[in-house]
Amino acid sequence: MATTALPRTAAKGGSFLIEACRPEEIFTPADLNDDQRLIGQTAEEFVAKEVLPLAAELEQHKEGLMSSLLKKAGELGLLGGGVPEAYGGSGLDKISGTVLAEKLSSYASFAVSHGAHAGIGTLPIVYFGTEEQKKKYLPKLATGEWVACYCLSEPQAGSDAQNARTRAVLSPDGKHWILNGQKMWITNGGFADVYIVFAKVDGEKFSCFIVERGYPGFSVGAEEKKMGIKGSSTVPIFFENCRVPKENLLHEIGRGHIVAFNILNVGRFNLGAYCLGGAKKVLEAAAKYAKERTAFGKPIGTFGLVGAKLAEMAVRIYAVESMIYRSAGMIDAAMSAAGAAADKTQQLMKVLEEYAIESSISKIYGSEVLDFVVDEAVQIYGGYGFHEDYPVARAYRDSRINRIFEGTNEINRLLIIQMLMKRAMSGALPLLAAGAKLQEEIVAGPQFEEPSSGAWAEQERAVAGAKKTFLLAAGAAVQKYREQLAEQQEVVGALSNIVMEVYAMESSLRRAQKAAALRGEAAAAVMADAARAFLYDAADRVEKEARTALAAVAEGDMLRTQLAVLRRFSKREPLDTIASRRRVAAAVEAGNRYPFEGR
Ligand SMILES: Cc1cc2nc3c(=O)[nH]c(=O)nc-3n(C[C@H](O)[C@H](O)[C@H](O)COP(=O)(O)OP(=O)(O)OC[C@H]3O[C@@H](n4cnc5c(N)ncnc54)[C@H](O)[C@@H]3O)c2cc1C
Repeated sequence: MATTALPRTAAKGGSFLIEACRPEEIFTPADLNDDQRLIGQTAEEFVAKEVLPLAAELEQHKEGLMSSLLKKAGELGLLGGGVPEAYGGSGLDKISGTVLAEKLSSYASFAVSHGAHAGIGTLPIVYFGTEEQKKKYLPKLATGEWVACYCLSEPQAGSDAQNARTRAVLSPDGKHWILNGQKMWITNGGFADVYIVFAKVDGEKFSCFIVERGYPGFSVGAEEKKMGIKGSSTVPIFFENCRVPKENLLHEIGRGHIVAFNILNVGRFNLGAYCLGGAKKVLEAAAKYAKERTAFGKPIGTFGLVGAKLAEMAVRIYAVESMIYRSAGMIDAAMSAAGAAADKTQQLMKVLEEYAIESSISKIYGSEVLDFVVDEAVQIYGGYGFHEDYPVARAYRDSRINRIFEGTNEINRLLIIQMLMKRAMSGALPLLAAGAKLQEEIVAGPQFEEPSSGAWAEQERAVAGAKKTFLLAAGAAVQKYREQLAEQQEVVGALSNIVMEVYAMESSLRRAQKAAALRGEAAAAVMADAARAFLYDAADRVEKEARTALAAVAEGDMLRTQLAVLRRFSKREPLDTIASRRRVAAAVEAGNRYPFEGR
């Protein structure tokens, strides 16, 4: 296998907020090796040749079609990436898994079905199954002979999943768990064979079970009438004295939340990758259309306001892509730094937990960029964008779910800060020390600053300023609310938005610098334009979010002082982002696609 250029040391999860990294320390799409590129190509061709031509029938829920496509994907090895080789999978590294997810996403309903099966449906058994459970289920799930799904949500328990009402009690003879209750919104539920079901033992202890279709007392409800991803199956599942063999308890009684949240963590990361791939495809369609469609005697792409849309779509996709591949690289670097652990899957789970903040960012940023991209694509198509005969109408409807499932974006925003605070308090991340150091710097007053020099001086200052801005706003919020900060959700949301922008800014900048060093400034000039335009606007967003948060936590002289410090951290020279975006738009239009693929 060709080697992958992984950084030698693995950065800690969340450490991007307080540490600087060098361009060569981050993984970028340019670092993908031949095998990883081949996986992407196989996945992309599979969807283009086998799935997309059947989209109309899939949208009508043609009986057996989606499950047969999943089986075909399994035969090609596209389902077993998360399954170790010992159980019939291919045990892909995280970077390969990311490429795979991205390239399967041309048809969202297939991507969602794939994620529900190969991700959240199969991985609970990979990470938490006993040897017998792994041997029984994984080989069949890896090939697609059996399809899996993940049953957490209930009619009354979505975001607060632990409020589940489904119950499990041991039968009098001690041989079966008897399940009663209902699950809701279960992707793949209409045709799956294996159901990962969460229920409370004796109505109290949240636990997880492997349930097979056909167990007595198990039944599947009718397909839900959805706004989008109509080609995927979404059904309620009913358990009426459903008899589940005792040995099908997954993990331990009362530890179901560990299964649920660790698996969602993986799901979130992958969801970002699916969104990334989907956004690139939509940009491609919009770029082609902008060239073909004429108005006032010219292709509409030649109008500045249309070009600016294409450019901004590419710029935001670039930011998401830079973050997601950087995170995937960190996960693989952490895995290789851990060495040959006896149990690689347990090791991987720990590593994924380490990067839970980055996974939530992948989910939120990926889904919101996709929503932006599909919305602008509809606008570029004009009236035809509103017509089901054109591809962007479906993409627009399909996109919307991504902000809702795998933990809503609100819940994930709250989680980012909750996880950061936990890491700060446990000492896993020296946030408090960084905050104290910043306070010293603030008290010392404005220092004589060297005038900016070098091609990236402004952007370096913007990233450093954004990191300080986070510490300033978070420090003020923690000082005021302490343990009650979680109750101030709007403040937490603003802080979370700053965290995400910091990661996006630094990842975009380092990738552009790495590309310039590798290929030369001229060859990487358009990527540099995209990075500069992104950073310039992101710095505005950071400043605004911090102002919002500070105004809520301070007042009077204290507020005035903090806003003065904020202005210092946000100071920068103007940049002609219109010119930068025009060059990005020209690159999109020249190639009719996202211009930084694999670079
Ligand atoms: C098409 C589709 C497929 C799905 N597939 C699956 C699947 O395969 N398996 C599965 O288990 N589930 C699945 N789901 C369920 C999905 O995960 C939930 O819909 C989601 O978690 C939100 O739960 P809810 O719908 O009950 O919304 P609620 O939890 O009622 O939330 C409603 C709104 O309130 C907000 N909110 C809730 N709590 C808070 C809070 N504490 N603070 C701030 N805001 C809050 C939410 O962000 C949201 O905006 C699917 C859903 C859909 C629509």
